[in-house]
Amino acid sequence: MLFLPKMYQKSIYTISYQNLKQKGIKCLVFDLDNTLRLIDEKLPSKKVFQLIRTLEKDFIVLILSNSLKKEVLSYKNALQVEGIGHARKPSTKGLQFISQKYHVKPHEIAMIGDQLVTDILSGNRFGAYTIYVDALGTKDLKITYFNRFIERRIIRSYERQKIFKRGVYYEK
Ligand SMILES: [Mg+2]
Repeated sequence: MLFLPKMYQKSIYTISYQNLKQKGIKCLVFDLDNTLRLIDEKLPSKKVFQLIRTLEKDFIVLILSNSLKKEVLSYKNALQVEGIGHARKPSTKGLQFISQKYHVKPHEIAMIGDQLVTDILSGNRFGAYTIYVDALGTKDLKITYFNRFIERRIIRSYERQKIFKRGVYYEK
């Protein structure tokens, strides 16, 4: 069940952050591409910018992306949050780094992303609370097309076991 998210939501805007706070989550780690932005969006939208400002009142907010560092840099600067690029998720190294630097335990971190085989797998392996969201767009990086192929197979298997269904959102 390493690919199964604890929560599944339509987008970062439908997550109940108050519930996360009550669960003891202190740090929100967002994936970048197709989670915060469409992959060719260079700068954050006003909507994302405002959401992050609100969340900062209650959480440490960070970006953890597999994209190249320079890709992440301009975006995170514009969004005014810390961000780590070239994270190689599903490696847990990025989350480990965050946990140490910000003094948060694995279970106090929520990893939020649009891919089971990178974001959710790294979060689950690390012991973080994992939140899967539908991808913002259909355009992906090349490597992601392969990940999506694997992801579809995992989802089909979960659907057969009746533990997950695309479009049926949940929280546990
Ligand atoms: Mg992504």
